[in-house]
Amino acid sequence: MSNESKKIPVKEVSTFNPATHKTSADRFNPGQRIYVRAMQGMFQRLRRNMAWFFMLLFIGIPWLNFSGSQAILFDIANQQYHFFSVTLWPQDLTLLALVFMIAAFALFFATTFFGRVWCGYLCPQTVWTFLYIWFEEKLEGSANKRRKQDSLSLTASLRWRKTLKHLAWLAIALGTGLTFVGYFVPIRSLIGDFFTFNASFAASFWVLFFTFCTYGNAGWMRSIVCVHMCPYARFQSAMFDQDTFVVGYDPKRGETRGPRSRKADHKALGLGDCIDCNLCVQVCPTGIDIRDGLQYECINCGACVDACDQTMARMGYEKGLIKYTTEHRLQGKKTAVLRPKLVGYGVIMTLLTGLFFYSITTVKVMDLNVKHTSRQSYAVTGNGDIENSYILKVINKTQQTQEYEMRVVGLSPLSWYGDQRVTVVASGVETLPISLGIAEDKLEHANHTIYFELHNLSQPELEPISVESRFTGPN
Ligand code: SF4
Ligand code: SF4
Repeated sequence: MSNESKKIPVKEVSTFNPATHKTSADRFNPGQRIYVRAMQGMFQRLRRNMAWFFMLLFIGIPWLNFSGSQAILFDIANQQYHFFSVTLWPQDLTLLALVFMIAAFALFFATTFFGRVWCGYLCPQTVWTFLYIWFEEKLEGSANKRRKQDSLSLTASLRWRKTLKHLAWLAIALGTGLTFVGYFVPIRSLIGDFFTFNASFAASFWVLFFTFCTYGNAGWMRSIVCVHMCPYARFQSAMFDQDTFVVGYDPKRGETRGPRSRKADHKALGLGDCIDCNLCVQVCPTGIDIRDGLQYECINCGACVDACDQTMARMGYEKGLIKYTTEHRLQGKKTAVLRPKLVGYGVIMTLLTGLFFYSITTVKVMDLNVKHTSRQSYAVTGNGDIENSYILKVINKTQQTQEYEMRVVGLSPLSWYGDQRVTVVASGVETLPISLGIAEDKLEHANHTIYFELHNLSQPELEPISVESRFTGPN
């Protein structure tokens, strides 16, 4: 099949149902607000359970402690990343780059296979929006009630309920802001400091910034973020093909749509299975009508699948008029699940994951930097010895205080002037100025390669670190 024929045909936008279709202008029009109707069903249960699991993970991770300090902390101020027993330094940030690359390929893989499932099930924008809608529903009533009461003037009771809703939204937003910043600033001290106005300006600013973003995005912007602001919504089409599982409506089965009585023989009336109840539109968080065909606004959340399945069950029809399917299946063709693009993403993701685990298990838990500092490469001491000076930086990447010993090999007999043993606190660095000296007649060349070794006396089973340097003398 040629590449051209694999592409999803462009839909003629004039076929959108004008009664249900929201234009871009509508989305920014407060009068055209989307009142999302709450829906129960298999996919909504799945979405809610996944949302709870990942939300609890998001909230719980900063509270995990390891050896008396926060187990996972991106300490930007000190340029360290604490991950349980290991502290990563800027030079280890290739690991972080690997994590982002794995996440990107996992997203490409999932999107090619299952469309925008990330958006529908896991994206914080969707998860927080549904949480905010839950509060809206509990405090202001069902979608229909909300639409009706918003068109009338505010009563005292509604004003009070709306105030409560906004307070709940703000509390969630503030909790989200504090939790997010708690990945970068120790969360236990952050919370106390924030509420007593003792937090740093940067920490307070970011807490308030993320509070504002959460409240604005999940409370007010909602589908505008998904449709107009999210870059992923724009480039996803590059990953979609006709074998991608998306939420789709079967027009062959559903049309001609129209109301009918439950007992009527709708086939005899020339009707399809769609009773035009509009439930699939009312539950859609992005306010689209999936019967208009695949649209980039669809976040694959499955709410319309649950809604339509309920209608089908009520009418005694077979479920699945709207379902997770592929364009090929809807055209009556076979779906090719394993295709080169999907396999390619999968292979790259697996290789990167392997590389990540190899790198994390071989990450150095100590490090040594050596800088030759003799201004004129070497100095001659009073007794005629040749001396070179160095700055040694010993880095402890563990979460415990460690004792180290430094040695030098490659030239002998070298005398060591300065500390040769050092104790370094957890995630600390010690800088040591030292000198090495040797009798001139023991130097065979003007330039010798030497190696500084760092031995961990607290964990002698660890391989020593060896760093190449030079010892220079007269020609
Ligand atoms: S069309 Fe269906 S699956 Fe797509 S966003 Fe709307 S409700 Fe969710
Ligand atoms: S929920 Fe199903 S039956 Fe009702 S309008 Fe949507 S597609 Fe038609």
